Amino acid sequence: MPELKRRWINGHAHALVLDYHQRGLPASASLVRKRDGAVLVRWSLANGTHPRIARKRPPLPSRDLLGEMARLEARFKAGTAAQRLLSRQPRRKDWLQGLGVPTEILRDYRLQRCDEPGELVEAGRDRGGRSLWLTPAAARAWLRMSIAARRDGVVLEPVSGFRSAAYQRMLIARKRARGLDWDAILSVSALPGFSEHHLGTTLDLHGGDGAVLEESFENTAAFAWLSAHAGRFSFRLSYPRDNPHGIAYEPWHWRFHPQAGQ
Ligand SMILES: [Zn+2]
Repeated sequence: MPELKRRWINGHAHALVLDYHQRGLPASASLVRKRDGAVLVRWSLANGTHPRIARKRPPLPSRDLLGEMARLEARFKAGTAAQRLLSRQPRRKDWLQGLGVPTEILRDYRLQRCDEPGELVEAGRDRGGRSLWLTPAAARAWLRMSIAARRDGVVLEPVSGFRSAAYQRMLIARKRARGLDWDAILSVSALPGFSEHHLGTTLDLHGGDGAVLEESFENTAAFAWLSAHAGRFSFRLSYPRDNPHGIAYEPWHWRFHPQAGQ
């Protein structure tokens, strides 16, 4: 059972830190309310062997924060990580409404609908230093895969992971406002609600050197390693050359396909 100690930050209920021991190592979990009302749970092992992981959920009314903290504490007292504590319902929304996509484009559109997941964890940082968000299973698989690559002397750097449909919608609306036509926009971007990045299971990767998100990635040691080993970690290239989805070849775009029990 973890040893538990409560520590309050800033003297109020905006954050609660639980210090405990996991397999003899000092660790901590904290619940933090962000300014936008979202609540993050983070935990970490003090020896740095474990990546900092945070769970994200939609805004909670303030009075619920204490209840949420109490539930988190109970989970830690029971010795279980708060695996499903902060899950939420996947959001389904018509992201295309009001975007003005011509009907003939929608009629011929070949990408599958991709809904956002109910839970995301912070699986380290992307190469730009921003938080990398993935589903818990994809995060575990990604961490195992990146460690295996590193052991083989290969660098895999995430360029991006989860991207929200709202963000995708904003990007596309911005391109429209700049006067780009739909063909130009959709040759490089999926419509909001249709990007595999909304799933939280998909990563754009880079090998540390050379151009980012360019076809030349296929000539790198990182791509050779992924082609040989990514399948062991349940990652597959979504858009190989001449793929049936009509999407340009994207050697950097790898999606996690969970197996039973993952
Ligand atoms: Zn991608």
